[in-house]
Amino acid sequence: MDKPTVTTTPDAGTEPGQVGERTGLHTDPGYKKRPAHNGVHVSLEDVTVKYGSFTAVRDVSFEVPRNEITALIGPSGCGKSTLLRTLNRMNDLVPTASVSGAITYNGENIYADGIDPVEVRRRIGMVFQKPNPFPKSIYDNVTFGPRLNGMKKDLDDLVERCLRQAALWDEVKDKLNSSGLSLSGGQQQRLCIARAIATSPDIILMDEPCSALDPVATLRIEDLMKEMTKDYTIVIVTHNMQQAARVSDLTAFFTVDVDDERGERTGTLVEMDDTETIFTNASDSRTEAYITGRFG
Ligand code: ADP
Repeated sequence: MDKPTVTTTPDAGTEPGQVGERTGLHTDPGYKKRPAHNGVHVSLEDVTVKYGSFTAVRDVSFEVPRNEITALIGPSGCGKSTLLRTLNRMNDLVPTASVSGAITYNGENIYADGIDPVEVRRRIGMVFQKPNPFPKSIYDNVTFGPRLNGMKKDLDDLVERCLRQAALWDEVKDKLNSSGLSLSGGQQQRLCIARAIATSPDIILMDEPCSALDPVATLRIEDLMKEMTKDYTIVIVTHNMQQAARVSDLTAFFTVDVDDERGERTGTLVEMDDTETIFTNASDSRTEAYITGRFG
């Protein structure tokens, strides 16, 4: 993949930042469109993901705005994690998984022939539910990706920059050779964020990054996420409604369609909008029922 320069979507006939008329942010074309203030970073068009013959999530179209936080919410099994993993081709690692539709990153379909999934994952990093530092030193955790990519020069500056960006530097600068596993859970997750940003991605996917953390560590990560939007676009899966409301700029609500005859449960996007609108004035009654705890 060449270094991307284009930030428009295939159907955007307007200036970046004004991509408002045909952005497809909602499944219902009658909804008002929400402009992507900094342009569109990722666009999903009719994305369906299957595991074998089972359709986990169907016909999802929405856009991820640049340098903002997009939250994916909805009841368990509606395909949030599945969809998140399609955004950096992580589902390629599941042999039965197949993806149809288009996912465009900086104007380029990441599922097109000739696209290197490893390069996609370098540009679109991921942080997982459970902090998973490697059983290596803090320093080596951060340098792992760059070294794998063949970077041989002195990496001290990179380590400091990434640990600073992950708001961990002050806590670990005197023990960079200690094991990553010796850190607290919250520190381990910030180390994983430092490791994710070490390969210079511009999007970070986070799959319930705080679910294993205590409330204080959780707030620390949430503050960090907001700070990170200066440099990164973030997509987060969370089952924590307060968290979605606190950190995200946009929220996409998914549900599970149940086909009793065929015994199938398939995830679908109900609506996507500004987080404030989703939480105070959702367009669809299913969204409101979920958010107020009456369903899900
Ligand atoms: P969520 O994140 O919303 O809880 P998931 O994306 O984890 O939902 O799962 C969506 C559906 O896909 C569920 O029915 C789940 O059982 C199924 N699923 C997830 N991962 C796999 C897999 N590796 N193989 C087969 N089915 C899977």
